[in-house]
Amino acid sequence: MRITMVGTGYVGLVTGTCLSNTGNDVTCLDVDPAKIEKLNRGESPIYEPGLDELLERNKAAGRLAFTLDKAAAYGPAEVIFICVGTPSDEQGRADLKYVLAAARDIGDAIESAEGPTGLGASDKAKIVIVKSTVPVGTNAKVRAEIASRTSKPFHMASNPEFLKEGAAINDFNKPDRVVLGVDSEDAGSRLRDLYAPFVRQGNPIFTMDIPSAEMVKYASNAMLATKISFINEIAGLCELYGADVDEVRRGMCADARIGNKFLYPGLGYGGSCFPKDVLACISMGDEVNRPTDLLAAVHKVNQDQRIRFLEKVDAHFGSGSGPADLSGMRIGVWGIAFKPGTDDIREAPSITLMKALLERGAEVVAHDPVAFETCRGVMGDSITYAGGMLDVVEGADALLVCTDWDEYKHPDFGAIRAKMRAPVVFDGRNLYRPASMREAGFVYHSVGREAVT
Ligand code: NAD
Repeated sequence: MRITMVGTGYVGLVTGTCLSNTGNDVTCLDVDPAKIEKLNRGESPIYEPGLDELLERNKAAGRLAFTLDKAAAYGPAEVIFICVGTPSDEQGRADLKYVLAAARDIGDAIESAEGPTGLGASDKAKIVIVKSTVPVGTNAKVRAEIASRTSKPFHMASNPEFLKEGAAINDFNKPDRVVLGVDSEDAGSRLRDLYAPFVRQGNPIFTMDIPSAEMVKYASNAMLATKISFINEIAGLCELYGADVDEVRRGMCADARIGNKFLYPGLGYGGSCFPKDVLACISMGDEVNRPTDLLAAVHKVNQDQRIRFLEKVDAHFGSGSGPADLSGMRIGVWGIAFKPGTDDIREAPSITLMKALLERGAEVVAHDPVAFETCRGVMGDSITYAGGMLDVVEGADALLVCTDWDEYKHPDFGAIRAKMRAPVVFDGRNLYRPASMREAGFVYHSVGREAVT
């Protein structure tokens, strides 16, 4: 199948590469010349484990190409996946400007391409698929935008993406499920064919109407975000009542109805999806005068979680209530990415915390295995980037753990203690046991567990 991916971000690039890997002829289009230049040099603009090798192999086989040329990308495509960003606007709604701009380009391209459907002599209509996460009703807007530019027939489909950054290749190649919202049996059957190689182990392809497919993605992300805020709320109670959230988790998660996934307390969710998708869901409710009280609380708990963690730092260094004066102090940070396995720092708790530490006068030294360049784009030279994780603790007055990368899970605390000016650890990911930290001579604060003071 001839496929065009619109947008070479985390979703477009991974899904385009994986679709080329099953023999499709894939063109990835972007409007960012720097990204396309990099891809044409054989370099990936994002960090995603396993992606480089797949890119190289499929590019070399002539099945995967990258371009800025819209007419060349859209003209011959039988299937077009819109994978552009849908960030929050100022009111928290999903900003559809990139999606609608792509729709206009597609309408123009269909109109100017040859043949009754814009596919030469073929009478098969192109399928335009919205893969970006969008509010219910967006496919209808995209359809209207395209139809305002061409009278040739085309199909619309919604195919939300569920991949996780850091495990994206495996998630796309072996999805728990594929969701297809379609407007015709023809589009449904062509898309089921396209996905057939990815569900050979029997995982389901759900074909449904377009609004339901659009809603599945928001409902899924809202549910996952709710789990995180739920356990963080319980962790807050544990701290105040002297319970240990790790024990509580274990006891509670043994109930099969609850399950043991995605119930880890910490600094709250970040990243390019949960925060904006929860806000977009809240806006969807507001727009039809049906407040989504639960989701509003999920969002509030999440934002408060970072503040509460910071309050632990303030309480340790300060003289009473309010922000502590950290002038002259050096604070080390382990982990910048919003989660391990990615260089994505969008809405990362680490960024909120580092900015707050700088405002309090601290010198911040941070380490992350991969998220240096993305961080520099936001924090510039306001912080120091350490080459190694132990450089961070050299002369530090405290260490903050913000991301649970594997390499932070079992460090040499003897060596760390010897390097630090004061042995103080604020662990936003509950990586260590309070008892072990006491034994190792640390002041230790984590989330929902006893503080070692
Ligand atoms: P991203 O910001 O990494 O990439 C978007 C790309 O689209 C950019 O490279 C941008 O230059 C390009 N673009 C913008 N307008 C364009 C146009 N008119 N033509 C061609 N390219 C254009 O975004 P992402 O993280 O890949 O997310 C894309 C969508 O997928 C979002 O709606 C997101 O919510 C959803 N999603 C993301 C993830 C994830 O883990 N990142 C997972 C599932 C779904």
